[in-house]
Amino acid sequence: MRHRVAAVTGADVIVVGGGPAGASTAFGLARAGARVVLFERAHFPRPKPCAECLSPQASRILADMGALDAVERAGAVPLAGMIVCAPNGARIHGHFAAAHGYRAFRDHGLALRRELLDRILVDCARRAGVEVYEGVRVVDLARNAAGRVTGVVTLAPDGARAVRSARLVVGADGLHSVVAQRLGVARRQPWPRRIALTAHFHGVEGIGACGEMHVARDGYVGLAGVDGGLVNVSAVFPYRAAAAIAVDRAAFLHDWLARQPQLAPRFAHAQRAD
Ligand SMILES: Cc1cc2nc3c(=O)[nH]c(=O)nc-3n(C[C@H](O)[C@H](O)[C@H](O)COP(=O)(O)OP(=O)(O)OC[C@H]3O[C@@H](n4cnc5c(N)ncnc54)[C@H](O)[C@@H]3O)c2cc1C
Repeated sequence: MRHRVAAVTGADVIVVGGGPAGASTAFGLARAGARVVLFERAHFPRPKPCAECLSPQASRILADMGALDAVERAGAVPLAGMIVCAPNGARIHGHFAAAHGYRAFRDHGLALRRELLDRILVDCARRAGVEVYEGVRVVDLARNAAGRVTGVVTLAPDGARAVRSARLVVGADGLHSVVAQRLGVARRQPWPRRIALTAHFHGVEGIGACGEMHVARDGYVGLAGVDGGLVNVSAVFPYRAAAAIAVDRAAFLHDWLARQPQLAPRFAHAQRAD
């Protein structure tokens, strides 16, 4: 296939993907003086399936990027620790600031919707001098005659393809990375295969200062209060549930939560926010 050679050439680094890995890598390289171009197929803000909890040490990186104030202003909820509930009813409370003696950058974690967090991080990269292109998908790697990667092939929303060159290409394009696939280093974990469903709810009762993980015999679910008074509900199910989930994901999650004796009363008046 013939590609039009685009104007954006000669960057030191092309970063593919504008999630936390791509935005922070691009930020660090730009701050060190590199000319960095970042391609992101989505437009921010965009959602990303995630339980949306940041560990206390993540705040160190956010502070270093100059993002911590913006994250807190966006309404990030402090997390004191995690509570894990076993199928037999046993509960383990883990607090980030506890008698174990280890002190992280902060005594608490943070919980913020990814559609807010990721935009803040990409804005930090932009301010550091990264040239960010949203809505541009990388569809292939460009190589020279010796097979060395020399850039990427992009696909713009208007269907235009272009070759963009750089000395270095960073693949930060997530789970089904095109960069990893084209390099032949993509790994598919054969087992255990699981399916995650994430949603935000209003009105879940009993949400406290800790995140929660409830483990059942046929799945597990995490709960954490995030910005805007919402609760992130992230459930993971074995692959054998795939057919039932495919029929109606929202109904599957609703019915599963209703079958958990310790959770059903807390979701009795809860409403899906997305
Ligand atoms: C259910 C669930 C719960 C989780 N909970 C947590 C949690 O509580 N805390 C935590 O720290 N981690 C959590 N994780 C993990 C976390 O979501 C990931 O580790 C994190 O998102 C990885 O960041 P990333 O930047 O590598 O990739 P991503 O966040 O996936 O970002 C990749 C970006 O690349 C873009 N992209 C993809 N392909 C292309 C392409 N071809 N061209 C251009 N752009 C492209 C995508 O649009 C995306 O914006 C969870 C994951 C799941 C599935």
